Amino acid sequence: MNTSSQNRKQRLVIAGGGTAGWMAAAAFSRILGKEVDVTLIESSDIGTVGVGEATIPTLVFFHKLLKISEQEFMAATNATFKLGINFENWKSLDHAYLHAFGVTGKDCWAAGFQHFWLRGLKEGIASDFGDYCLERQAAEANKFAHLPNNGLNYAFHIDASKYASFLREHAEKDGLKRIDATIGSVNLNEENGFIESLTLDNGETVHGDFFIDCTGFRGLLIEKALHTGYEDWSHWLPCDSAVAVQTKSVSEPIPYTRCIAHEAGWQWRIPLQHRVGNGMVYCSNYLSDDEVITKLLGNVEGEPLNDPRVIHFRTGRRRKQWNRNCLALGLASGFLEPLESTSIHLIQQGIVRFLRMFPTAGIVEEDVNEFNRQADFDIEHIRDFIILHYHVTQRTDTPFWRHCRQMDVPDSLKHRIDLFQKTGRVFREGSELFDDSWQQVMIGQGLMPTSYHPIVDTMSLQELKGLLNGVTQQIDRTVGKLPPHNDYITRYCS
Ligand SMILES: Cc1cc2nc3c(=O)[nH]c(=O)nc-3n(C[C@H](O)[C@H](O)[C@H](O)COP(=O)(O)OP(=O)(O)OC[C@H]3O[C@@H](n4cnc5c(N)ncnc54)[C@H](O)[C@@H]3O)c2cc1C
Repeated sequence: MNTSSQNRKQRLVIAGGGTAGWMAAAAFSRILGKEVDVTLIESSDIGTVGVGEATIPTLVFFHKLLKISEQEFMAATNATFKLGINFENWKSLDHAYLHAFGVTGKDCWAAGFQHFWLRGLKEGIASDFGDYCLERQAAEANKFAHLPNNGLNYAFHIDASKYASFLREHAEKDGLKRIDATIGSVNLNEENGFIESLTLDNGETVHGDFFIDCTGFRGLLIEKALHTGYEDWSHWLPCDSAVAVQTKSVSEPIPYTRCIAHEAGWQWRIPLQHRVGNGMVYCSNYLSDDEVITKLLGNVEGEPLNDPRVIHFRTGRRRKQWNRNCLALGLASGFLEPLESTSIHLIQQGIVRFLRMFPTAGIVEEDVNEFNRQADFDIEHIRDFIILHYHVTQRTDTPFWRHCRQMDVPDSLKHRIDLFQKTGRVFREGSELFDDSWQQVMIGQGLMPTSYHPIVDTMSLQELKGLLNGVTQQIDRTVGKLPPHNDYITRYCS
């Protein structure tokens, strides 16, 4: 970092107190608190985005890193467990599949389980692909328990504003200084263009060595001050708006998110212990805000607890997540729509990556380039995975779905789709987030390979039956012993 005095502690300034700001604050104060002064500035006059309540399993590890008790976290955020996402009406109307967090079946060294399943299907001895996944079966049976050795992969549904308060408590205990004020200007060093300080509306000026921009879509530091630039991906992900509303629960929470496609986008239902988060994501070329508000209020199940909120967004990413002495996290760094609940994961990835490359002895250009290269890799793979859901569909009933089927997709995604269709093969690239998920979603969306690996034909029909039935029997036995999801929550963390 650019520390002028060798003796004083380095100063890390976080601008913004939404989920990104408080996750960063909790992590940096816990892990760097003894070495670095951490300050967070948030403005009670400018709210947070107020959504972002479905997560993926990596959050479990973030909490372990911070030594956060899962029971305390779940009780404080009224959280429920999440085993996957149920995609309804995506492949075609009245069809559903559950993208579960677990692994489907058993692979062998040469071929993934889908090859064995494809032959089973041809021979008439295999059932639905999801029948071979424990998490999917537990989700559908509405059951949950922690199993030894991460036997059941899970994430959470959380109350976003309660999560920020919960993390704030942790961060303040670890010595974080919080300032409630609005940042009026970002002051740059005239020679090198680095950020030197932030001037607040209370007259105070906050100096720092490094700044974390968590100011949401505004990107006050990374964009308004540093003009980093934005790469627009809306030609691949055409939804640009959302309406969100919270409702009272009318039934026990289920352990999965519902994601229901509609004529020009989709609707989410996120069950918490005390309420349900609802929203519609849509493309404004086909539906107006007012039409969506009426549709959403017309089909939510419980009584609304707040007025519907409209959020407009532009899908894409900041050209550099780390620019000079500023790192953007959360919405300030870019936005992929929430179809696979990946934004909080990307915040966490940014935090952990920054901790690994922490610029103790001044900012090294190679570190910055490497950081941005890894961040680009992460987001591009997730982007492809989300586009897959829209592009591979049999729906032709509305102009929106016809557009999605016909649109160009990135070459990287086209390659994956073609490879799977012709050979049934899926390869995980490097450390990309999704693995088994590719098969689950491609098959779920109706993409069926035209061939399978010949190693499968070395098995007799009897052996193949034994393999397939062995998997489902083992799953049935495990699911049979799990308690109902809500009973487990009541005992564990209500
Ligand atoms: C419709 C929708 C649904 C989503 N669903 C999911 C989901 O299910 N799962 C998931 O992982 N993610 C989801 N996300 C993304 C998720 O909401 C965000 O990644 C997450 O909330 C982080 O937001 P943030 O902290 O970056 O920004 P914000 O919540 O917007 O916070 C910005 C902060 O900056 C502060 N600020 C701004 N300007 C100033 C200023 N001038 N001075 C001082 N402070 C300032 C504000 O006060 C606020 O504290 C969703 C997003 C949208 C739009």
